[in-house]
Amino acid sequence: MNTQTVNGPVPDLKHLSLERLVDGVKVTATVAPCSWMYRSYGLQVMLRLPGGALASIHRKRIPFEKATEADVRTTLDAVTLCKCRLCGKPAFDPAILDVDRDGQCEECFANKIRAEYAASEAKAAVALAEQDAEMKGRGYTHRIEAFIHPVHGGDDYPLLVYMAEPTEVDVRAHLERQGSCDTNDYRLVPL
Ligand SMILES: [Zn+2]
Repeated sequence: MNTQTVNGPVPDLKHLSLERLVDGVKVTATVAPCSWMYRSYGLQVMLRLPGGALASIHRKRIPFEKATEADVRTTLDAVTLCKCRLCGKPAFDPAILDVDRDGQCEECFANKIRAEYAASEAKAAVALAEQDAEMKGRGYTHRIEAFIHPVHGGDDYPLLVYMAEPTEVDVRAHLERQGSCDTNDYRLVPL
């Protein structure tokens, strides 16, 4: 099946679904909605492996209006797979993809990201606890976690400040001095 429409009606790429066996694994190609939702985005082909792993190939130079089934087919024909270097399951070959998953299948890659995130969260929590202890030793009693909403516009940003026995008036005055127009946006954490 290799059809190309020349000077004819635009083929219905929005519902196109092509399949190809790569090393005995069924790879499915569809056209990503970005292709027609955003002007001048170009053709983006979504690839799927059995089990749901997704990847995409963005062919920016092919305008959606001019894209044909043959373009999707050519993109699918270029797909190569590798074995996930951790679990050995089929994975998209990093060489052909927009997103580099480091030769890992979707599942192993997601696990890696989750583990990295958990580790960095834990590290941040330890650093904060150490800082709290140090500030407590210096006589501070509370950590204030606030968001500054700049009076003169611009993005809100977080502010962390330590105070000793602060009253609500103290905290709000401090946030006002920092140029915030909403001095209610804070959380008081006893040390
Ligand atoms: Zn894997």
